[in-house]
Amino acid sequence: MKLLIVEDNPEIIEAVSFCFELRWPEVSVVSTETGNKGVELAETESPDLIILDLGLPDINGFEVLRQIRLFSDVPVIILTVRSENMDKIKGLEMGADDFVVKPFSHMELLARVKAVLRRSQMPELRGEEKPFNNGRIRIDFTSREITVNNNPVKLTPIEYNLLYQMVRNEGRVLTHRFLLEKVWGEEYVDATDYLKKYIQRLRQKLEDDAESPSLILTERGVGYKLIKIA
Ligand code: CA
Repeated sequence: MKLLIVEDNPEIIEAVSFCFELRWPEVSVVSTETGNKGVELAETESPDLIILDLGLPDINGFEVLRQIRLFSDVPVIILTVRSENMDKIKGLEMGADDFVVKPFSHMELLARVKAVLRRSQMPELRGEEKPFNNGRIRIDFTSREITVNNNPVKLTPIEYNLLYQMVRNEGRVLTHRFLLEKVWGEEYVDATDYLKKYIQRLRQKLEDDAESPSLILTERGVGYKLIKIA
């Protein structure tokens, strides 16, 4: 398992390297302080995961991500200074897998890395494949039958499609734009009020208490995710 860190602050590189040495010594860490070198190493070193800072001295992290995505689906975790929603939205749309806000703890970083790796190894669900079951929601993709805690639930096609997108990306934050495009079509990408309404409907049908959801969570200003039940 190989990790690439693209970060211009040597103290952070050192801290992250030390963290892995201590907690997960099987991981070998490669690092660089510039974006261009980061793109090059992403190709020559074939890392299993990349930790990418946004503010770099030559090209910014978004440009690094864009260039990497031209040749690789390697999981990328972006480091941001604050919880900047615009950065999150842009990063998710460009194919980042997760975010860690500085300053972060070793345990938080390790947990994110492990979660992203697990997701990247999860096979995609397809219409003909075996039913989805997270212990609370069960979906038979062939018959489109859905049960919540073993009680059958009827969904409209839009509700079904919305849930389907979230199930396919279980545990992952999906942007408003992504969901609107997938479910409603690209001419609706700004119709966040549609989405909000349908999320509310889904919660009423799926959650124990739609007012304090525990399945479909809101990432404020960014999107929604279906929680992954371990
Ligand atoms: Ca920086």
